[in-house]
Amino acid sequence: MQISVKTNARTQMVDITSQVQNAVKESIVEDGIKNGLVHVFSMHTTAAITINENADPAVETDILNTINKTIPWDDNFKHMEGNSAAHIKVSLFGPSETIPLENGFLVLGTWQGIYFCEFDGPRNRRVNIQIIGA
Ligand code: ZN
Repeated sequence: MQISVKTNARTQMVDITSQVQNAVKESIVEDGIKNGLVHVFSMHTTAAITINENADPAVETDILNTINKTIPWDDNFKHMEGNSAAHIKVSLFGPSETIPLENGFLVLGTWQGIYFCEFDGPRNRRVNIQIIGA
């Protein structure tokens, strides 16, 4: 199954935890799988998935400020499309995360949230969610 994510900045972290949990709930109604693994996959070369703290929004700001400072938008990159910084960030963060599923619920720590990481927005994006039964 897939979910849509609309971003509104060049770099942005969007908390998609509740969207993923809702998609998983719908899937359980269809196929009954309540235990296993949930694979969350960004279908893009310039947007990643990560898991990190979603309690203090300053964490998002600090992550984005640091990654933008580490990999500046312009740095004599050769890629003609002009968005190499976004491609590099995705390779560092990775395109997916896998979350345990127990009794129909994502097993996340108290402070953990699933983030869609936009690195070349704003855009309309797609995230694929696959449940692997235990
Ligand atoms: Zn490109």
